[in-house]
Amino acid sequence: MADLVARFRDVFGDSGPVRVVRAPGRVNLIGEHTDYSGGFVMPMALDRAVRIALVPHDEPVVAIRSVQFDERAEFRLPSYGKGDGSILCEAPGGPFRPFDNAQGRPEVLEGRQNTPVPFSDAPHWLRYPMKVAEVLAEEGIVLRGFRAVVDGDVPVGSGLSSSAAYEVASALALLVAARPDVPAGLAAALAEAHGLSAERLAELCQEAEHRVGVRCGIMDQFVSLHGRAGHALVLDCRDLSFEAVPLPAREAKVVVTDSGVKRRLSSGAYNERRRQCEEGAERLREFDPAIRELRDVSLALFEARADRLPEIIRRRCRHVVTENARVLESAEALKAGDLARFGELMNASHDSLRDDYEVSGPELDLLVEIARGVGGVMGSRLTGAGFGGCTVTLARPEAVEPLRAAVLEHYPRRAGLEPRIWVSEAAAGAAVEV
Ligand code: ADP
Ligand code: MG
Repeated sequence: MADLVARFRDVFGDSGPVRVVRAPGRVNLIGEHTDYSGGFVMPMALDRAVRIALVPHDEPVVAIRSVQFDERAEFRLPSYGKGDGSILCEAPGGPFRPFDNAQGRPEVLEGRQNTPVPFSDAPHWLRYPMKVAEVLAEEGIVLRGFRAVVDGDVPVGSGLSSSAAYEVASALALLVAARPDVPAGLAAALAEAHGLSAERLAELCQEAEHRVGVRCGIMDQFVSLHGRAGHALVLDCRDLSFEAVPLPAREAKVVVTDSGVKRRLSSGAYNERRRQCEEGAERLREFDPAIRELRDVSLALFEARADRLPEIIRRRCRHVVTENARVLESAEALKAGDLARFGELMNASHDSLRDDYEVSGPELDLLVEIARGVGGVMGSRLTGAGFGGCTVTLARPEAVEPLRAAVLEHYPRRAGLEPRIWVSEAAAGAAVEV
């Protein structure tokens, strides 16, 4: 990662000035299954990121070498010429030939010259920047081609949103190539130079992910752009207003543990819960016509009227209503520097997800149980949609190694799975580094 510029020069044999952009992955600390009821979430940016080193050129082509996937591929920018988003890609694992620097023309493989490959044949990792370019072009931004190397240390496919990090990094790469005069700095300044707010940029990246084929919410792209070092973000999913609350690294580390269980929240289970939330909101509207969705249901109203809901709907709604309250209380606790209270709220969140929302699983429960047994661990819960994926644990810095040791000692034996553990602190959002 440190040598991304050297890597770029190695791949492209180019000695000109190289720009570098980065966008972090994220973890959600509390506020689970609240987004689709217009509620609150509290993610933070990780100190792991996707980085892209690039040099703009005059061809309307984006050529990218992926370090992770050991492939190179390129696509034609949609706002140029044909506007068909056609791509030319090198055969996976095929020979790599450097660019012809004298002419500044991208190399294409013989026989493939100018033969567009359908989107569905593009390498999956190329689809993200392709779709980001498409949405930016539709937004009226005049794009310029570049050659680039992409590398990252956000684990891919573990729920830490490497995809959102990559979309945001791709957007910054495209924007910086189109405006090389914009100096290094935070992403918001670069977006602004193009007449875009950072919020709009997050929406465009979300739209790109939808077009790749994943119906994600906005949280991941939002926090990748807006993350602040030493802070978590309290995000209101209804209007995207947010506030940074302190999470000082010297007092607490955030430990993400991958259970090794593939996230298997089927669309069926997910849609069922969405429906149950909608039904709950509809039934409670009888008592207050201002209730649009569960976000509008106060704890007091819920407690007064819960007996009017069918048992399963009551438990689903209880999770969402109490979880929203927990996020807001967490924000207050962090502002007051009360990490211990925040940890208790994380624990309560997990128990609610397990018992009321029923989206945990034996492996996640086991990881949480192991973590909570370690001195200096303040709280532990599942993070993400559930049924598999990761837990997030808040630990005093000195508790990190005992926690790691406990997980490695007990989890493989009892779950029959290998965990993966990443320690992070709350990091800054996306930026143009160089
Ligand atoms: P995650 O939970 O990590 O977001 P996804 O399946 O949503 O998992 O996204 C992972 C995909 O994002 C990868 O398969 C790849 O196509 C793309 N991706 C993520 N990080 C990188 C990277 N550093 N380089 C290239 N592609 C990446
Ligand atoms: Mg993803």
